[in-house]
Amino acid sequence: MDDYESLRQQVLDYACKLAQEGFLKGTGGNISIRVPGKNILAITPSNQDYLTMAADDICVYDFEHQPILGALKPSIEMSLHITVYQARPDVGCVMHTHQEFASAVALINKSIPALFDEQVRFLGRSVEVVPYAPSGTGMLARQVRKTVKNNHNAYLLKNHGTLCLGPTPERSYHNVLLLEKVATAYLLALCTNEKISKIPVVIREIAFAKLRSEQKKLAEKE
Ligand SMILES: [Zn+2]
Repeated sequence: MDDYESLRQQVLDYACKLAQEGFLKGTGGNISIRVPGKNILAITPSNQDYLTMAADDICVYDFEHQPILGALKPSIEMSLHITVYQARPDVGCVMHTHQEFASAVALINKSIPALFDEQVRFLGRSVEVVPYAPSGTGMLARQVRKTVKNNHNAYLLKNHGTLCLGPTPERSYHNVLLLEKVATAYLLALCTNEKISKIPVVIREIAFAKLRSEQKKLAEKE
């Protein structure tokens, strides 16, 4: 069982980090890490305070929803996390947050276009909106499954929050921060009522090609 301990600790560490920085809001949001090479994930439990949680509280489940470790109930969004890992072999960590500015953009049903080159390099060509479905439902997991096939690493869940993906917890965390920066700039720019300029298409495609080539290498390893 020892091989799960460092992953449980990492899930806890990143959940605390996100909670302390205000990205999770109370017991909202959830994060998971895929056990490399296995159909197993370590995920935050449902409805628990991240800052008083211990590594033993992190749930370890297989992709058939069978428990392996942990006495608490896993996050209600576990199906959504599993769906992402099944659809995207390049993804090793999923973070679902209720971060403020990106959640605000999720209310206006506008995808965020390619505004910055680092945005496209790490998050994808745009930040798309996943159509609304209630939290914790199979319907939401199905909507996510369809949308993540575009190989982007950040999404807005309509009237709910965000979804950030990455090959490692470090990268998913970086993507959460980058998404908030991009969402904040986009909202402020929208407030001016001026035309919002995007990066040139050729630069967007070069940046996205870098992300895709990294993803393909990771998918081959899985
Ligand atoms: Zn949520």
